Amino acid sequence: MDADKIIDKLYESCGASLEELEFLIDGRNEETAQKLFALARSRALEHYGNKIYVRGLVEISSFCKNDCLYCGIRRSNVNAQRYRLTKDEILECCREGWALGFRTFVLQGGEDAYYTDDIMTGIIAAIRASYPDCAITLSLGEKSRETYQRYYDAGANRYLLRHETATPEHYAKLHPKELSLANRMECLQNLKEIGYQVGCGFMVGSPYQTTADLARDLLFIKSFAPQMVGIGPFIPHHDTPFAHEPAGTAELTLFLLTIVRLMNPKVLLPATTALGTIEGDGRERGILAGCNVVMPNLSPQSVRKKYMLYDNKLSSGEEAAEARAALERRVEAIGYRVVTDRGDYKG
Ligand code: SAM
Repeated sequence: MDADKIIDKLYESCGASLEELEFLIDGRNEETAQKLFALARSRALEHYGNKIYVRGLVEISSFCKNDCLYCGIRRSNVNAQRYRLTKDEILECCREGWALGFRTFVLQGGEDAYYTDDIMTGIIAAIRASYPDCAITLSLGEKSRETYQRYYDAGANRYLLRHETATPEHYAKLHPKELSLANRMECLQNLKEIGYQVGCGFMVGSPYQTTADLARDLLFIKSFAPQMVGIGPFIPHHDTPFAHEPAGTAELTLFLLTIVRLMNPKVLLPATTALGTIEGDGRERGILAGCNVVMPNLSPQSVRKKYMLYDNKLSSGEEAAEARAALERRVEAIGYRVVTDRGDYKG
């Protein structure tokens, strides 16, 4: 096999086989990385120009009924600081976000039973009524099809649910036995059928991950054809069973982001907080690898340190929504511009 030929094929036909992807990942070097960066960037420019879309992230709850082995807010972490935002607090975040120029609000949280369907649809409907021009994205985990439908009917447009890994045996090593890849896939399918713009994705360098797992992730994403893909490095949290596992690298994360861009040319691809956490200039490097979205934090200052999914998670500096001007400067310094735009998928 020849890396150059695989890269050309990725660019021309937006595809590659499992073996080709494995070969490319395992044999990666500076030269293949630079070639992929340049092609991924030009693909993103072709479809979205030099626009970078911003999403205001509101972390609504750190309570979670799940016990994912990698996650700092897992149920068993007795040291996690728990909080949940009320409807009024969430609306206040949106008000501030709107004034700062955000036209997408992302409500993310643990799976918290406090937010019954009635409470959650009340919150979504209130945001929809106050901000008819904004997109509402949810990232609240696995729910029944009926619940997803109710959220959608109340005004939600998009849903982020990472598949985490497309390999069932790997999924089982990262999650407690109550959670299964089959159910996650069913949730993703339901979201798509209801009409959401859907995002899936995975962590890079999660424990037990192999190159074959990564290649399967890339092929799954291609076949699922999501509108958004969230990829960031795994970062250990000191109060989880994976406390002593090594973090994923920015280098591999960026390499995979370029492949995602080439296989899914129009996808909305965030340069994630986790990437910005392991590398000071991670977000800029993500943009130069074909990313076109950033998601600054709009949560109230008082709770930001409590939504600790992993150690040292960024929530201030340019990661913070209120530092929008600083973010704009950093993005402009690499030749891009932050836009006030819903930034919908260009299907
Ligand atoms: N509960 C919802 C869900 O599971 O989709 C949304 C919140 S969940 C904490 C959001 C994402 O955080 C997960 O999909 C996971 O990939 C990521 N995450 C959790 N722990 C992480 C860690 N230690 N390092 C990097 N990312 C992590």
